[in-house]
Amino acid sequence: MAKKASGELLKQTKKTGKTGLAKAAKSKPAVAKPATAKTVKIAVDELAKKAPKVTVKSASKTTTEQAKQSKSDKANSGKSGKASVRTTAKNTQGTPQSVGSGKEKNKTLRSAGAGKEKQGAAAVMEKNVQLVSKNTAAEVMRLLCKTYPDAQCELTFKNDFELLIAVILSAQTTDVQVNKVTPKLFEKFPTARALAEADIEDVKEIVKPTGYYNNKAKIIQACAQSLVTNFGSKVPNNLDELVRLPGVGRKTANVVLGVIHKIPGWAVDTHVQRLSKRLGFTTNEDPLKIEVDLQNLFPNSDWSLYGITLIFHGRRLCFARNPDCPNCPVNHLCPSSLV
Ligand code: SF4
Repeated sequence: MAKKASGELLKQTKKTGKTGLAKAAKSKPAVAKPATAKTVKIAVDELAKKAPKVTVKSASKTTTEQAKQSKSDKANSGKSGKASVRTTAKNTQGTPQSVGSGKEKNKTLRSAGAGKEKQGAAAVMEKNVQLVSKNTAAEVMRLLCKTYPDAQCELTFKNDFELLIAVILSAQTTDVQVNKVTPKLFEKFPTARALAEADIEDVKEIVKPTGYYNNKAKIIQACAQSLVTNFGSKVPNNLDELVRLPGVGRKTANVVLGVIHKIPGWAVDTHVQRLSKRLGFTTNEDPLKIEVDLQNLFPNSDWSLYGITLIFHGRRLCFARNPDCPNCPVNHLCPSSLV
C-alpha cells in the first residue's frame, strides 16, 4: 500500500512539476522548464525582483513626504534645522556623488528629483555610510540586544516542517500575515506528504492572503514533494541539503538551522541587508557578500541572535522609509543617524 502510494506520488510529483511549469510558462516564458529546485528558485527570485518596483514608488513618495516634514521642522524649530544640516553633512561625507564635482552633485540632485532611482533619504543614507570598527559594531549589537531581550522568530510553528514552509511563505509579506494562514494550512496538510499530494487549488486558496499565492502554492508544494522524494519526508539539518529544496535559499535555510537546530548562521533578509548597511557593518549589496562581512565582524556564537535582533530593530524602529533615529538606542554610534 505504502509502495503504491509512493509510486503514485512519484508519478504525481513529475506530473505536477510539468503541469506547474507549463502554467508558469504562460506568464513567465523564461521558466518553462521542468519543475526542478532550480526553476522554482527562479520563481522565488522573480518574487523578490518585484520588491524594488514597490520600493521605487514608495521611495519617491517618501522623499516628498520627508521634504515636507523637513520644511515643517525647520519652520517650527531652529534645532531641527540644525539637525537637518548635520544630517546632510554626515550623509555626504566621503561619497563621490556629494564631495565630487558640481556636475556629479547636479546629477545626484536630478536623480533625486526625478525619483527614478531608488532614492529618498533612507536609500541615500544606506549608500553613503562608512564602515564602523569591530568594537563599535560589538557595542551596537550589545545595545540592540539589551533593547530587544526577547528577540526571536515571530513565525508560529510546531515543528521544522511548519517553520520551513512558513519561512518560504513569508517572502514579500509579514510574519503576522503568514501566521494568519499557517494554522489552517497545517491543519489541512500537517505533513510533507499531505502537502505534496494536496490539490494545488486548495493550497492556493489557503495561502492567498500572503500574496503571490499562485507561485507560493506551487513552491511550497514542490518543496514538500522534494522532502518526500529526496529526504524521507524529513527536513534536512544542514545548509547544503536545505538549499537543494525548491524555494529554499540561504536565508530560509539559516532561519531553520538557527531556530530548530541552534546552528549559528546569518539569515540575511531585507531588514538585515538594510540595517547592516546603515550601521556600517558592510558596504555590499549582495546578500551573500553581506553574510560574509557579518561573519567576519561578529563571533560565530552570536550570529543567529544578532540576526534576529537586527530584524526586530528593523521592524520596530529602523524602518525602511522613515527610520525613527531620535528614539534609536544606537543613534550615537550609527553612521546613518538622522539626529
Ligand atoms: S540611528 Fe538607528 S534608526 Fe537611525 S538609521 Fe541608525 S540604526 Fe536606523
